[in-house]
Amino acid sequence: MISYIGVALNVPLKGLFHYQWPLPQMPLIGTAVIVPWGRAKRLGWIWEVCPTPPEHIALERIKSVVCVLHSPVYLNQRWRQLVEFASRYYHHPLGACVFDVLPKSLKSFSKNLQASSILQTWLKKNLACVVFDLTDYHPNEQSVLLEPYSGFLERNTVAQESIEFSERPLTLEQVFAVETLRAVKGFKVHLLHGITGSGKTEVYLRLIVSAIQDQKQCLLLLPEINLTPAVEAFFKERIIGLRVAVLHSGLTDTQRLNTWMASATGGIDLVIATRLGVFVPMPKLGLVLVDEEHDPSYKQMEGLKYSARDLAVMLGQMCDCSVILGSATPSLETWHKVQLGAYGKISLSKRAVVGAALPVVDLVDLRHHTTSAGLSKPILEALQGVLAQGDQSIVFLNRRGYSPTLMCEACGWVAGCHQCSAHMVWHRAESMLRCHHCGVSRALPSVCPTCGNQDLTAFGRGTQRLEEALLCALPKARMLRIDADTTRGKGKAHQVFTAAHQGEADILVGTQMIAKGHDFQRVKLVVALNVDSALFSHQPKSAERLFAQLMQVSGRAGRTGEPGRFMVQTRYPHHPLFQCLCRQDYTGFAEYELQARKAAGYPPFTYQVLLRADHRKLDHAMDFLHHARQWALEWLEQQAWEAECTPRLCDPVGLTVVRVGGVERAQLLVESISRRNLHHFLDSWLLFLPSIGGSVRWFVDVDPTEI
Ligand code: ADP
Ligand code: ZN
Ligand code: ZN
Repeated sequence: MISYIGVALNVPLKGLFHYQWPLPQMPLIGTAVIVPWGRAKRLGWIWEVCPTPPEHIALERIKSVVCVLHSPVYLNQRWRQLVEFASRYYHHPLGACVFDVLPKSLKSFSKNLQASSILQTWLKKNLACVVFDLTDYHPNEQSVLLEPYSGFLERNTVAQESIEFSERPLTLEQVFAVETLRAVKGFKVHLLHGITGSGKTEVYLRLIVSAIQDQKQCLLLLPEINLTPAVEAFFKERIIGLRVAVLHSGLTDTQRLNTWMASATGGIDLVIATRLGVFVPMPKLGLVLVDEEHDPSYKQMEGLKYSARDLAVMLGQMCDCSVILGSATPSLETWHKVQLGAYGKISLSKRAVVGAALPVVDLVDLRHHTTSAGLSKPILEALQGVLAQGDQSIVFLNRRGYSPTLMCEACGWVAGCHQCSAHMVWHRAESMLRCHHCGVSRALPSVCPTCGNQDLTAFGRGTQRLEEALLCALPKARMLRIDADTTRGKGKAHQVFTAAHQGEADILVGTQMIAKGHDFQRVKLVVALNVDSALFSHQPKSAERLFAQLMQVSGRAGRTGEPGRFMVQTRYPHHPLFQCLCRQDYTGFAEYELQARKAAGYPPFTYQVLLRADHRKLDHAMDFLHHARQWALEWLEQQAWEAECTPRLCDPVGLTVVRVGGVERAQLLVESISRRNLHHFLDSWLLFLPSIGGSVRWFVDVDPTEI
């Protein structure tokens, strides 16, 4: 009897591809096969088995599988379930999703696909594999023995014998957190809201130990690749016998594959990983931890554009286990879910180390202090004071959230949209102001509409000069720059951070990278510069991110001993964001910002999808978007959905940085308060779009973090 299989292939087309399965025994779902594709062959993964031929293809056109690769590399059911969900939710072809998230060694082979080349590659990686060539297979003549490998993983699962961990007295808050979270049975999401230094890691440790003692596996996601070595070392030192693996994009293909396979056989208790770790197969997963859950780097920006934080929650649901989202400054989506009662919340409100106080916050009002090359006198004096005492300072330069908005330095006026509450973006080339939210545009005003000042400027000017200015003003200080440039290359980051920890620098200058997780012991002063542009960015999340960064970077001061000092230079000291910052009041900020989002109709009160279009000629990209919009409007009219639940389509706009590598980029934003309707609409839209795509490269981004 012939059966049929649906195979996931790495092609940019929706759905599975069907082939004949000539063997008498049923194929094992999740196994790799080689199938014909046009004149070539492709590697794919069996995704479904159909007893009857698929109806949408003529029987004689269904080809037969060429080879089956019988090996321990198989995609288990839970893994497939997660990938299927991601494919559906992010509207990305299933096969493309599979290949986007598989380790490279399992998918990249020479074009002319030969079973032997796969065999060689896999054997080199110690993945025993039997290849059955089915090209000349005749059911009556041969009999192929296919013992399913499904049993393989279970049989080879290595149980954790015993672990030991070194105790340390917990604070009362930590005890409460651990007790509460340990008692969780089944799927439940908790926000662990703990200020910096409150000892969240210690709570994770206890929960991990309990889970391992229950013969479970744990997944700990971290936002930043540079944090993984220290965290791995911490857990190894504290838990004797722990079988831990790390996974991030800095590993070699072989290392990644090893982690993947070891986790899949249950031979790993704890996987510490950046966002791609959410796709590590863990058959006994019993605890999911997402540290710094608010961090933007959990969003994958290429290929399958997923949020690892959101998928981690889905994974927890599929595995029916506890999910813990840790942060000092939770994302507003998460905070909103807590308020709705969907997530639980546990707070750690005090620093764990006795005597470690939170820093004193000083706002330096730029309306009253002049600056030279961006630096005000109070800041320079404070830096000098710390230097004289032989202590360390951190200077944090905000580069994120930079948005060329027009502003008046005299009165603080900022160009806003009259149609919605977003700020206008200055498109220099055309001398226009444009709203990226609703798409409306207008000419640049020649004078400030509030005070008549003729000298209107853009935010964010001169950031690069700040470091030079610092060097000039403090020639004796030893500076160390920590940003994406100085930490690029193997081992570079480790080197730079070690130097910082060992006190080889007096002033650490850096971007957001400096704010994350590192526990510098001798820092007495933290200074934040160039922060105002983020208050008026057209990016909806920019204030949230600024607040998170400032809270985080301020936490770097006075980790031990006396309280440190945190100074922020701003022209808007009365802005609620800074007022909350002075009180270290996340809750106050969240309330303010959620209200602003609600008023503006931004997430989490609406759901958004971006349609991006790239082309060498901007006209082509824009034409595509206009056409797409027109079709959508007509389609939506036919649905006769309630007006307020009908997705709203904005006007297409060119991106702020329109031209990148000779390609012009434009986008169209779609919003809806009904997630269901939005996705229903997308299903139809995405079937239509290929017919008008032409040479335009386009994609959708569901829940975009930048618009
Ligand atoms: P967070 O991740 O919440 O910012 P950490 O877990 O890094 O905080 O802990 C901050 C510091 O407090 C670390 O140096 C850690 O060793 C220490 N610490 C954590 N828990 C305790 C405790 N119960 N008693 C003393 N020190 C603690
Ligand atoms: Zn607008
Ligand atoms: Zn003005």
